[in-house]
Amino acid sequence: MDLSPNVERLEGSLTIGVSTLAKRLRAEGRDIIDLSAGEPDFGTPEWVRERAIAAIRAGATRYTPTAGLPELRRTIAARLARRAQREIPWESVVVTCGAKHALFNACFTLFGPGDDVLVLVPYWTSYPQIVMLARAEPAFVRASEERGFLVTPADLDRAATGRTRGIIICSPCNPTGAVYSLDELEAVARWAKERGVWLLSDEIYGHIYYGEGGVAPGLLDLPEDALGPFVLVDGLSKCFAMTGWRMGFSHCEPELATQLTAFQSHVTSNPATPSQYAALGALEDEEHAERDVAEMVRAFRRRRDLVVELMREHLPDLEVVYPEGAFYLFFRVDEHFDDECPDSTAVCRAILERSGVAVVPGIAFGDDRYARLSFAASEEELTQGIRRMAMALRRTAKARG
Ligand code: PMP
Ligand code: GLU
Repeated sequence: MDLSPNVERLEGSLTIGVSTLAKRLRAEGRDIIDLSAGEPDFGTPEWVRERAIAAIRAGATRYTPTAGLPELRRTIAARLARRAQREIPWESVVVTCGAKHALFNACFTLFGPGDDVLVLVPYWTSYPQIVMLARAEPAFVRASEERGFLVTPADLDRAATGRTRGIIICSPCNPTGAVYSLDELEAVARWAKERGVWLLSDEIYGHIYYGEGGVAPGLLDLPEDALGPFVLVDGLSKCFAMTGWRMGFSHCEPELATQLTAFQSHVTSNPATPSQYAALGALEDEEHAERDVAEMVRAFRRRRDLVVELMREHLPDLEVVYPEGAFYLFFRVDEHFDDECPDSTAVCRAILERSGVAVVPGIAFGDDRYARLSFAASEEELTQGIRRMAMALRRTAKARG
């Protein structure tokens, strides 16, 4: 088929691919434990659902302005302003169909042919693809494993060229769960500012944080003078268990927000209207929100502790990155490479075939030595899943002799 060069290097999302395969195998009757999907296993809180139902009943079924309901943009801006302790104009907020869409809008609007965008390895699987869809080039920055995969300005200096126009940072990180401290984040922000490079900060896991203070350090916690041009990306998919509603947003200077809105006006128009009312409900009712988010994070923390413990017990030879945030465990599987299973894709396939446990190969995140499991699953599934995975891997080791 003769397709456009726009999609020359396009590959479908492997994270979505593995979880779709797991769902299919389960529907065929196989006993599958799905630790691949990066989505909370909780339902959206009832009081949030009710807001959408009430909005639909009241006739909120038509277009809204492209950048979202003004009251939703104002509510988001007010929250950001409280965090930043300075005024944030509501025109700086654009509501999108999920955080992925906000990232796509930003990359497509800011980058193009001849531009390099720094992508930190291991990366969330969609970053390089989104950059390439904008016809820019991802330039990979490998951070040291010993430092928990957190990059420093020296790492960035080594990767930057005269073509570098942007950098995408994700903290808490998918797939490692690593979190930049305020100082580490400030160093990256100042590096970007000094070079006039756009800083795209994906803070979708900001509230799923196991350190002090309940929220991982983000761009708005930095002194204003540390920030050059930036786009902050966030959304409700993870912290409110709203993956299916497709509710994300970006915050950036209003002039760029106008461009992002113009772009969005030709691509999707406004995000789904009932979803916007649900998001408004979630963000307006702070008391309920704090209570429910805190409860989910407590459950994720228990599961984080459980999976780290289970890995130590059942697979003590595998190195893991200790997650400070998000709900992923990134663990090395290259010990188990052999002629039959020469890479992370083959190891994960063997795990799935032998034990029915779905995990995502590290190659999806740019590091083929690793695999990722999501601990957004019940304690029972995690316990069974890791036990079964350990048995499957022991069989590979035995077959190797
Ligand atoms: N960024 C990261 C790091 C993610 O893991 C995800 C998960 N899908 C997204 C963005 C996109 O989130 P959304 O579902 O809001 O598009
Ligand atoms: N972000 C999640 C993951 O990494 C959901 C799937 C996706 O959008 O990539 O698994």
